[in-house]
This record gives sequence, C-alpha cells and structure tokens, in this order.
Amino acid sequence: MSTGLTYGLVKRIEMTDYADLLNKSNLKATFQRIQLLESIGEHGHMSVEAIYDEVVKMHPSLSLATVYKNIILMVQKGVLVEVPIAGKKSKYELRKEDHIHLVCTACGEVEDKPLIPETDILLNSLTYSEHFKLVQQQINLYGICKSCQKNM
Ligand SMILES: [Zn+2]
Ligand SMILES: [Zn+2]
Repeated sequence: MSTGLTYGLVKRIEMTDYADLLNKSNLKATFQRIQLLESIGEHGHMSVEAIYDEVVKMHPSLSLATVYKNIILMVQKGVLVEVPIAGKKSKYELRKEDHIHLVCTACGEVEDKPLIPETDILLNSLTYSEHFKLVQQQINLYGICKSCQKNM
C-alpha cells in the first residue's frame, strides 16, 4: 500500500517494472536490457565500462559494443539519461525527476540531491531574462565527498 510517506526511502525497482518501462518506451524488453537497467538502478550512476564489467559476469559472451549500443538506444528512447562529467567519461542513470548532482572529483561518486523550489526560481529567472526557453536542466557541483575528506 502506498501511503505517500516515502521520504528518505528508495523504492527498489523490480525486474517486471523494468520490462514495463522498456515496453512503454517502445523497446523490446530483452533480458539483457533488463539486466543493464537493474545494474544502473542499483548503483545510481555508471559509466558504460562499469555497466559492462558488472553485466558481463552474468553474460560472458556480451561485448562492450553491444552494451554501448543498448545504452545509447535507451537514452534516445528516454529510459536513461546521460550525465556528462567534466574531464571524465559520461555516466548514465535512470530517468528521474530533475535533480542536482554532487560529483566527487576524488572518487568519482555522484550523489543525487533534489531540486529545491529556490533553485527552480533562480534558474527560471536567469533564463527568462535572456529569453532563453529552458527545456532541461542538469547541474553538476564538483567537490570532495565526505568520506574522501576523511582520507585526506
Ligand atoms: Zn569521494
Ligand atoms: Zn542523478
């Protein structure tokens, strides 16, 4: 039962949900694609290489090129979103609500932070004054995460 009181809880997405997601996006729900999505869902943000390294354990015949092709296709169909990271390879995540990324330049971890209304107001006023029609926002903040700071 959904109570709406899910603050702080991360809903675990089931395999059938991924199949649904693919079907709704006009993509065939192959076992391989479901596993790619599962892997990304579990880790949050992953590079193509990291996804490949994980999924190849279950599918030894899988090639990096196939993973790459499927990831790009799922980005085009709006299932996944590319997260470009300055100076590094892009990571990919499941499409979620707009949010801000805290990117650790030491370990590469990417953490999601929800957009607060103040950010929305700021972005809208910045773009509105330029007559720039805002269609998508993606903000990365770069720094050192808590656990990397401890190890310095
Ligand atoms: Zn870190
Ligand atoms: Zn994210």
